[in-house]
Amino acid sequence: MNPPVFPKASILIAEDVNVIALIMTRALEKAGYKVDVARDGEECLRKALETAPDLVLLDIMMPKLNGIEVLKALRANPRTCDLAVVMCSAKDYKTERDATAQLGVIDYFVKPVVPELLVERVGTILARSSREVAKSGAAERDAAVETYLPVLDTTRARFTLWGTRGSTPTLGGRFQRHGGNTSCMSFTCGDELLIFDAGSGIRDLGMEIMASKIRKLHLFITHTHWDHIQGFPFFVPAYVPGVEISIYGSIGFGKNLEAIFRGQLDRDYFPVQMEDMRSNLQFHNLPDTPIQIGGAKITWEFAHHPLPTVGYKIEAVGRTLVWMPDNEFLQGYTGAPHALTCQDSIVAPFEKTIAFLSGVDVLIHEAQYTPDEYLKKIGWGHCSVPNACLLMKLAGVRRWIVTHHDPNHDDVFLEKKLNLTSQILAEIGHSMPVSHGYDGMAEYL
Ligand SMILES: [Zn+2]
Ligand SMILES: [Zn+2]
Repeated sequence: MNPPVFPKASILIAEDVNVIALIMTRALEKAGYKVDVARDGEECLRKALETAPDLVLLDIMMPKLNGIEVLKALRANPRTCDLAVVMCSAKDYKTERDATAQLGVIDYFVKPVVPELLVERVGTILARSSREVAKSGAAERDAAVETYLPVLDTTRARFTLWGTRGSTPTLGGRFQRHGGNTSCMSFTCGDELLIFDAGSGIRDLGMEIMASKIRKLHLFITHTHWDHIQGFPFFVPAYVPGVEISIYGSIGFGKNLEAIFRGQLDRDYFPVQMEDMRSNLQFHNLPDTPIQIGGAKITWEFAHHPLPTVGYKIEAVGRTLVWMPDNEFLQGYTGAPHALTCQDSIVAPFEKTIAFLSGVDVLIHEAQYTPDEYLKKIGWGHCSVPNACLLMKLAGVRRWIVTHHDPNHDDVFLEKKLNLTSQILAEIGHSMPVSHGYDGMAEYL
């Protein structure tokens, strides 16, 4: 339906930008209106008094007198106090809208104004009393475009990296981008919260848990080196009555998991002891069968690292995620990875690792040393970049998030190292999505 037009109606446009005044004038004149233009606030006041227009389209930011001042002056004068005024401004703030609404404007157009819409809305306004239009104008706007307010689905399976540093925490501006907390990841699926390793990153996770309603936790430990358990004494939920924490780990070579956790809280090392932890702590040896927690299935496999170190696989929502932060794949191998296959004798001992990682959607795995660093660090339990790249290829991993960054590697160094990683992956014919994990990284599985 065409908008109503009132050919004899006069409109005063107060607009200091020539091109906008011209566009508005042309559109309204073409529709049959009588149009006059004021270039500043003072001129607008004068013309409003002289010509008593049927409608004023009033800009806010104008020379000499701004639109609000003009409006106040119009309302204060008995001859212009009832003048129909529509604000026409590029500023769309509550402050401006409220201030002008209090001064009885009929409507508020936000510039840029589309000529056809301007004609339509002016026609509608002139067809109604100012009071009705003020009400229905908002309703029309609401009806024209349904507001899109998507809400984040927080029930989806997701993982968060709380600590991505290996060996020992680091601190300082040079490490800001990746962070300096040692190993910790959380995995949320429905109401269940799973935690993998308790490096210093678990402290921040503890704060978040305390701010939530979650009180049942499952903590999976890959191994008990410092960088994977050192955050536990600072894990606040462990001290809170009513919190249940099931802690899983492989059977150790010497002390069991509970004894090691208890030892870390020995008086010689720490001011409070395990007895002071008021949560319900339950220690479990890893079973050979899968662990089902809510919608997540957890299995494990040994990694190549001192101690009976393991990696964990989570299967949920039809996808797989593996947390294997410490794994010296191809220990001692410093040659080119290009031609190696699963049939090579040097690869054979890692057959189970490759099978475990076969085709996983997201693998969180280390590549701690550059090739030249690895020459001096063979047997320290960590991968060289080329060897880790080969593992990705042989296992057909779909996406790799590199973690367990060396404490000597600052942000600049890690950026170069990531470029080298991508380069090697391309060279060996396994270009794949690879990124560096960082403290606070959170994604849906
Ligand atoms: Zn480690
Ligand atoms: Zn370790």
